[in-house]
Amino acid sequence: MNDAVRLGAQGREKEQQRKRPAHGLTVALLALTGCITEIDSQDGAFTRPGERVHCAVNLDSSARNGLASLDAALDRAAARDEVLDLYAHKPGDTVELATIEHVLAGAAARGLPIGTYEELTSRGGLALSFDDSGVETWLLARDLFLAYDAHVTFFVTRYATLNEERRAGLRTLASDGHAIAAHSVGHLRAPTYVQEHGLAAYLAEEALPSIEALRADGYAVPAYAWPFGATTGELDGALMEHVSYVRSVTFTVAGVADPCPR
Ligand SMILES: [Zn+2]
Repeated sequence: MNDAVRLGAQGREKEQQRKRPAHGLTVALLALTGCITEIDSQDGAFTRPGERVHCAVNLDSSARNGLASLDAALDRAAARDEVLDLYAHKPGDTVELATIEHVLAGAAARGLPIGTYEELTSRGGLALSFDDSGVETWLLARDLFLAYDAHVTFFVTRYATLNEERRAGLRTLASDGHAIAAHSVGHLRAPTYVQEHGLAAYLAEEALPSIEALRADGYAVPAYAWPFGATTGELDGALMEHVSYVRSVTFTVAGVADPCPR
């Protein structure tokens, strides 16, 4: 298990490929797959249409969720009319464009709409989101989103530090119909912040300014994503007085504490 966690980064995998003979690598990968649970068995990753608390599974390469697992998750969403939540960070960097296209094509093939939370209130579909501040990489996937008629959600952190180029990129993405949403001021772990400074301070310093700064620039900000997925029922309730949806994460690594509150 610890090996699986340590080997999580893609760079580490490449390092292993250089050092090990092919057979050793195969054995190592087989051992790793045993530690990853299938997405379709992660109930947290699926919501009924219109639910306000979401937990997403990481689509980044480092999370090692295979294409077969993604396909089975899309099958479940289609069969049960559920919303499947997936998230990543940087297209072309932390997640391959081919992986994004596989998921988009898979959703389309199953008749699942690929939309924002506000667009998926009456039927199941795929809710895809991208976190943090890598706007220039988000733009790399723009043509894919257009090709599959997909609307996704971009959860922006540290908005105050974004240069004009990144801000222009966000405007472009918003004009394509994507949702621009909030992901805190400083990307801190919310429950820890509340323990140390209180809920009111978290709202005033970390959450609300990140929402208000985006709204001041014209974005609706329908949702808030917790840094590291870390949240509590109290925090979810407090944020849902200011946004319609909150998003945590759910891990497919067996034996690791899961932050999903659902
Ligand atoms: Zn983040």
